[in-house]
Amino acid sequence: MESKLVIYNTLSRKKEKFEPINPPFVGMYVCGPTVYGDAHLGHARPAITFDVVFRYLQYLGFKVRYVRNITDVGHLENDADEGEDKIAKKARLDKLEPMEIAQLYTNSYHRNMEQLNTLKPSIEPHASGHILEQIEMAETILKNGFAYESNGSIYFDVEAYSKKNHYGKLSGRVLDDLMSNTRELDGQSEKKNNADFALWKKASPEHIMRWKSAWSTGFPGWHLECSVMSTKYLGEEFDIHGGGLDLLFPHHECEIAQSKVATGKDSVKYWMHNNMITINGQKMGKSLGNFIKLDELFSGKHELLEQAYSPQTVRFFMLQAHYRNPLDFSNSALKAAEKGMLRLFVAMETLKKIKSSEDSTVFVKDLINKMYDALDDDFNTPILISHLFDAVKMINSIATGNDTIEANDLFYLQSVMNDIVYVILGLKGIEKSDDSNEKLSEVVNLLLNLRMEAKSNKDFATSDKIRNELTKMGIVVKDTKDGFEWSIE
Ligand code: ZN
Repeated sequence: MESKLVIYNTLSRKKEKFEPINPPFVGMYVCGPTVYGDAHLGHARPAITFDVVFRYLQYLGFKVRYVRNITDVGHLENDADEGEDKIAKKARLDKLEPMEIAQLYTNSYHRNMEQLNTLKPSIEPHASGHILEQIEMAETILKNGFAYESNGSIYFDVEAYSKKNHYGKLSGRVLDDLMSNTRELDGQSEKKNNADFALWKKASPEHIMRWKSAWSTGFPGWHLECSVMSTKYLGEEFDIHGGGLDLLFPHHECEIAQSKVATGKDSVKYWMHNNMITINGQKMGKSLGNFIKLDELFSGKHELLEQAYSPQTVRFFMLQAHYRNPLDFSNSALKAAEKGMLRLFVAMETLKKIKSSEDSTVFVKDLINKMYDALDDDFNTPILISHLFDAVKMINSIATGNDTIEANDLFYLQSVMNDIVYVILGLKGIEKSDDSNEKLSEVVNLLLNLRMEAKSNKDFATSDKIRNELTKMGIVVKDTKDGFEWSIE
């Protein structure tokens, strides 16, 4: 399979020609959500980034197995209250099964991903469904001499690993610094070194999610699930591993180390990381009050939002930045994206109706080559979109008679624009009746029925008020024989 695609590899810190290990097959693993809460803006970027990677690789003819996991085993996090994991705490407060909560949030994540028009992964394994395999990998690492048991927990021995391997090669961290600088963590005293990390943790009495192992009743360390599930479904060596830049360290660095000593191989050929989202220039965080859930974004119900933004607008907005660059989120930037996207979609409609001429005065092939070059250059969607807007100008110029296009060129432009906009970038085009339009119709019909009631009761003050208020909002009401008609100005 020949392609011109180059991918920036976080591991080598340079762009590399994309040559899969076993073409035409491509194995891609992306770290999925931790299902402890509603999906937020931070979930949207990796989902959309790797959706476009998935879509474009398939478009190029590769047979992609895309694995994205669900983290549902309730791992301890540094900021968890008193060491109680988040799922366990909510389960206790709401009297729910922990798996009931994980399912609830998994469902809402899936709903949001569908709204964003991301394709479903080929396999979506749950960490809780792979406890035995995680215990097995911990045993192998222990047997190979790169882990130790301490008070019922198993820790990865970073010092032993570092004798022959470079711990820190992905993130660029220096081991000596890690040994001395790592913040004091829970269970710290059990570890030989600060940099060591848990493969298995003995559960404290209040920890609800727990499984039996030879060492203790406990739960696997978070990093382990990704090493286990990627190896299980993609093999000991696979092509692409993706995730957010926030996972670079420690998560991915630990994955590299675990997989290496468990299988003896470097598991991943291309490491890809999407950059982070800031909000009005600030890092997103619950404590900063700028934490926006996807449902809030789509409904406009958040104090930082001036309006609702459709999932498609959010998708287009994210694709206007390169995935490796930070992206700042603001009302003005989103509104600009919404406008630009509409201009593109109107041109797509115009393109359907354009008539061909004898000759072309436009250079279709040059423009299209530039579009594919942008995609091949590490999925450079902002450059691609700038060329799409060049195409918009071209289309409008043909439509107004300032330029002409010959039949083959027209067919080529139509089919490639359709492929790029809808198949590769995953946009849907003008949405004729989305949810919010349907809701609006219901509300207007309700008001106008109330108005008819008022009129029949000779309450003309109310009837006029409803009509005038609607008119102010740009909704034109016309009385008819059978009732009413209305339209939006
Ligand atoms: Zn992971």
